[in-house]
Amino acid sequence: MSANGADKPILIAGGGIGGFAAALALSQKGRPVHILEQAAEFGEVGAGIQIGPNGVHVMRFLGVEDALARDAGMPTVYHARDGLTGRTLYKTPRNPEFAQMYGAPYYQVHRADLLETLRSTVDPEKVYLGQKAVKVEQQGDRVVIETAKGDRFEAGAVIGADGIHSAVRRTLFGEDAPRYTGIVIYRLTAPIEKLKPQFKDIGSSTFHGPHGHVTTYPISGGSQINFAGAWEIEEWQEESWSLECSKDEVHEAYKGWFQDIHDLIDATDRINKWALFDRDPLPAWTQGRCTLLGDAAHPMLPFLAQGACQAIEDGYVAAALLASSAGDWEEALNEYERVRLPRTSRVQLGARARVVSMHEPSALGRIVRNVTYWIESLTGRDAKRFKPDWIYQVNVVSDFPVRG
Ligand SMILES: Cc1cc2nc3c(=O)[nH]c(=O)nc-3n(C[C@H](O)[C@H](O)[C@H](O)COP(=O)(O)OP(=O)(O)OC[C@H]3O[C@@H](n4cnc5c(N)ncnc54)[C@H](O)[C@@H]3O)c2cc1C
Repeated sequence: MSANGADKPILIAGGGIGGFAAALALSQKGRPVHILEQAAEFGEVGAGIQIGPNGVHVMRFLGVEDALARDAGMPTVYHARDGLTGRTLYKTPRNPEFAQMYGAPYYQVHRADLLETLRSTVDPEKVYLGQKAVKVEQQGDRVVIETAKGDRFEAGAVIGADGIHSAVRRTLFGEDAPRYTGIVIYRLTAPIEKLKPQFKDIGSSTFHGPHGHVTTYPISGGSQINFAGAWEIEEWQEESWSLECSKDEVHEAYKGWFQDIHDLIDATDRINKWALFDRDPLPAWTQGRCTLLGDAAHPMLPFLAQGACQAIEDGYVAAALLASSAGDWEEALNEYERVRLPRTSRVQLGARARVVSMHEPSALGRIVRNVTYWIESLTGRDAKRFKPDWIYQVNVVSDFPVRG
């Protein structure tokens, strides 16, 4: 046995998007890796998720881009629309331009398809279902995770990929107090055959409010339209992704909004309500041989559609640095935090800032907003709006090649 624990497996707590991306990248380099997942079986809430070029670079490296693309929507254009009238305020190109600009396209997928694509590539014998991590102990050159069943798993290093309520984060850095943002998200998918023909060409749209916004885009090969509606509600909500709610509640929220929004609500069978909580960026993620990734490290509001992409980038970079190290895992994990934390903090704060103009409450403020967009569209400057190069230009695969 080596003195530095490098012969022991790396243990990932959490079998979600970031955890599986890290596991796949590590196992491709022949590093033993085990995953502990709290759920007794994998299952997903029906919802869409967007993967920008920065996430696609990693999926391509992992050899799963083709599987991802099979069921993905590939929007040609992104429309920012007025929520009340449906009129386009500005638009920016997506595909095929993104592949030319950033080296990879923009995909819109069903979350279950994305997870299944990642999960199917990892040896199922390395995945322990029904094992909820509750405690992490560092003991010399090893780390021990204790689970709710009382089982103990030993590892050379631990990655806490256990999502927004991370037990690993709590163990390493103590309790924190998430802040309710005053916004809930209504999530639904609507089958295209229940909708009017114009929905086939709906593309990717964000309807800007007062007091909310709605994002729509096709998923599952165009057979479903995904709807994520943000709405301001003052009272404190349970922090959960899976509360169900009635159609009446959502119709009432968007009363007076563009009819297409109400048609989408009518066409679905189920609506989930997701209260948004926010946390400030953490000053540190790593302690000894343990670190965090994805929502465990940097839960972010979904307004830049980057939660999953940042988790995928984290998973790749953590794996690349661990696989390239000569077994000094503490140093590799410190380096991982040093290179990732500034970027994810910027995305966290950027997502928080973006919501302000999308929810403009006053009629005068909305006129100023809409006229600004209109003038920009006359001068061609609208094509530059919401094209955040600093997010999409990054390719962690070329920035952090796996050595060794
Ligand atoms: C329905 C839904 C839709 C979403 N849509 C969008 C979107 O459109 N755009 C966007 O940017 N973001 C979206 N998000 C957020 C985005 O998916 C997250 O940012 C992303 O999933 C983060 O990946 P992760 O691997 O860090 O965490 P997750 O994917 O949440 O995975 C965490 C995993 O850890 C497991 N786990 C939790 N606690 C423990 C424990 N103690 N021990 C073991 N396992 C544990 C969980 O069961 C889960 O499998 C959505 C999330 C959901 C649920």
